[in-house]
Amino acid sequence: MAQKLSMQNGKLIVPDEVIIPFIEGDGIGPDIWKASVSVFNQAVKQVYDGKRKVEWKEALAGEKAFRETGSWMPEDTMNTFKEYLVAIKGPLTTPVGGGIRSLNVALRQELDLFVCLRPIQYFEETPSPMRHPEKVDMVIFRENTEDIYAGIEFMAGSEQASKIISFLENELGIKKFKNSSNTSIGVKPVSKDGSERLIKSAIQYAIEHHKPSVTIVHKGNIMKFTEGAFKNWGYELAEREYSDVIYTWNQWEKTKSTQGEAAAKLEMEAALKANKIIMKDVIADNFLQQALLAPQDYSVVATLNLNGDYISDALAAQVGGIGISPGANINFNTGHAVFEATHGTAPRFANTNTMNPSSLILSGAMMFEYLGWNEVSTLIKNALREAIKSKKVTIDFYNLMEGATLLKTNEFADEIISNFCIENVEMN
Ligand code: NAD
Repeated sequence: MAQKLSMQNGKLIVPDEVIIPFIEGDGIGPDIWKASVSVFNQAVKQVYDGKRKVEWKEALAGEKAFRETGSWMPEDTMNTFKEYLVAIKGPLTTPVGGGIRSLNVALRQELDLFVCLRPIQYFEETPSPMRHPEKVDMVIFRENTEDIYAGIEFMAGSEQASKIISFLENELGIKKFKNSSNTSIGVKPVSKDGSERLIKSAIQYAIEHHKPSVTIVHKGNIMKFTEGAFKNWGYELAEREYSDVIYTWNQWEKTKSTQGEAAAKLEMEAALKANKIIMKDVIADNFLQQALLAPQDYSVVATLNLNGDYISDALAAQVGGIGISPGANINFNTGHAVFEATHGTAPRFANTNTMNPSSLILSGAMMFEYLGWNEVSTLIKNALREAIKSKKVTIDFYNLMEGATLLKTNEFADEIISNFCIENVEMN
């Protein structure tokens, strides 16, 4: 009988027959979910031949939930996600109107999903604006709960904005407001705890996946006590808890200033020889240049919320755009994780069966990897790679490729399934 996932001593316990809740999503959601789930089920069946199975449990959210229950995010759905730990979802409409939170934000906050994980990987033949998109292979760890994104902001002229401004002016002597009566205020909280848990997850990931580096991307040159502190806390954490496996640029600077450059060089060479992970930092604007000019120099990236938002989509564009970029929101401490398509509901294309299901399919592949069912993940990714390589694709890629064959959403899923090649998958 299918069972729930659980967490024991910080480890995810995955039953062979596991129940996974899903939200099919709004707009193009039902089309891409139907295609994706057929790929997932076939892949699990081919790999485990009935020894492992997923029982999908529908959870309502978005327009479908509103139609059926009068609520955009029913309590039941939130409870299901809490109880079953790992879930997958299509895109949800952001309801317009005062007082209604974005459904995605609600999920992230309620489950404290502090990592937004975005792998950025190139699949051969995918249309890309880059000359060498194959050089891009990064995994972004975006902090998901703090920063200017925390939603603490007040409109110009409101009582709260006036109170905060007068406190800043009168109590702290800040004289920087051009016109305090028409100034809006936003607050940027960045905590040591929040920064450390994000950076720790990035480090653990780099260790487990044998990645060469972790880069902290920040604007600490300008925002010293938020972004700058994020960087410093990251370096301190690495030096305190991971000095046996990580060497930091910060350490290099310290050695250079106390013992000279030659000593620092020797230290760095020894670290590289010992295959230590290098932790470095780059200012966010420079990172956006470097990601185009020298993407091969970056691997795992840890960054705050707003930077992470820009960086994730900019990098996704380098390898084919949001139609093919997967994502997940994870709390590595509780085990809670929601895997999701990174694009929106594209409402104009709802029920046309034309859109690209790759983002959701690859999010599912990430989910299987998270469950430890790596063979399923590999089978799916290999087959998707083959489908794109043979230029049998949906309209978004078809329009940008020469000599391609146009497939509907469900036909693309069938094409992936027909490319499953179990012989090329290493079984654990
Ligand atoms: P969108 O991603 O829905 O669409 C923008 C354009 O991208 C589309 O017109 C289409 O040309 C293209 N596109 C998107 N998904 C595609 C796919 N799978 N295959 C091929 N092309 C694809 O962005 P939007 O129009 O800004 O947002 C529409 C709605 O989605 C809004 O309500 C927004 O709030 C919501 N949204 C939800 C999420 C989420 O649930 N995670 C994310 C972003 C936007």
